[in-house]
Amino acid sequence: MHELSITRSMLEVVAREMKKSGVKRLKKVSIRVGELTAVEPDALRFCFDESIKGTPLEGAALDIENVPLSGKCDRCGTEFRIEAFSNACPKCGGNDIERTAGTELDIISIEAV
Ligand SMILES: [Zn+2]
Repeated sequence: MHELSITRSMLEVVAREMKKSGVKRLKKVSIRVGELTAVEPDALRFCFDESIKGTPLEGAALDIENVPLSGKCDRCGTEFRIEAFSNACPKCGGNDIERTAGTELDIISIEAV
């Protein structure tokens, strides 16, 4: 399952960061999830809750920010929202599109005490 492996690697990072800062109780993890990662926020939240149950991290919240897939046209510089199955520039019809957002899966912040 996609979301489970993401949760695992995310929690590894969280645990490492918490150890580094000497904090014990996790309050909230904020992440940014790009549209292209095909992550289901509900499934991710479920995996997160299940993974921290019975661990010192239990009770922590997961804050998910969804990032729509966006691109920039190489030819005319227009930035636009890329819709599914269509990746031509809406202004000039160009096909050289650089993805500028929507592929990220980042931890933005970790709140712990
Ligand atoms: Zn263009």
